[in-house]
Amino acid sequence: MKLRRAIFLDRDGVLNEDLGYVGQPDRFHIFSWVAPALKLFTEKGFLLFIVTNQSGIERGYYTMEDTHRLHSILAEHVRPHGVEFTGIFVSPYRESTPNDIRKPSPKFVLDAAEQYHLDLPSSYVIGDRSTDLEMGHRAGCRVVLVRSSAGKETEKEPGVKFDHVFDTLLEAAQTLT
Ligand SMILES: [Mg+2]
Repeated sequence: MKLRRAIFLDRDGVLNEDLGYVGQPDRFHIFSWVAPALKLFTEKGFLLFIVTNQSGIERGYYTMEDTHRLHSILAEHVRPHGVEFTGIFVSPYRESTPNDIRKPSPKFVLDAAEQYHLDLPSSYVIGDRSTDLEMGHRAGCRVVLVRSSAGKETEKEPGVKFDHVFDTLLEAAQTLT
C-alpha cells in the first residue's frame, strides 16, 4: 500500500489569530492566507489534519460543541477552494491534568498515521509554539515553525529546534514539497 503524506496544523496562531481561549465565532479570525495555503498543500497531495490544545474547555470557558462549531466555520471557509480536513483532533485538558493527548504528546499524530496509512518522515507538523515543534519531533515528522502570532518569540527560545521557518502558512505552502 502506498503511504500518504500529511500536514498536521496547529490551529491558534497558524490558522487564526491567537487571541487566547478562542471559543466563540466573534473571536475566531481566520487568517486571509489560510484558504490559498491549504489549497496549495492539497494540490501537492497532502492530507490535512489539525491538532489543537484547547484547555479552555476543561476550564469551562467554552465547550467541545463550541469548538466543533468553530471548526465547521473553518471547513465552510476552505471548502470552496477544494480543501477538506481529514481529521481535527482536540485536547480539552489543562497542562496539569494527566492525559496522553495534549501536545507535546504525539498520540493524535501516531493514531492518524495508523488509521490513514501516513508516512510520517515525509509529513510536516506546522506550529507557532514549542509544544507544536516537540510533538513533531516526537512523532518523527518534519517540523516547521511559522512566525505568525507567538512564532516570532518561539524562534528566539533557547534550544528550540525546527527544520524550516516561514513568516506565514502561505510561505510554507509555496515552499515545502
Ligand atoms: Mg498556536
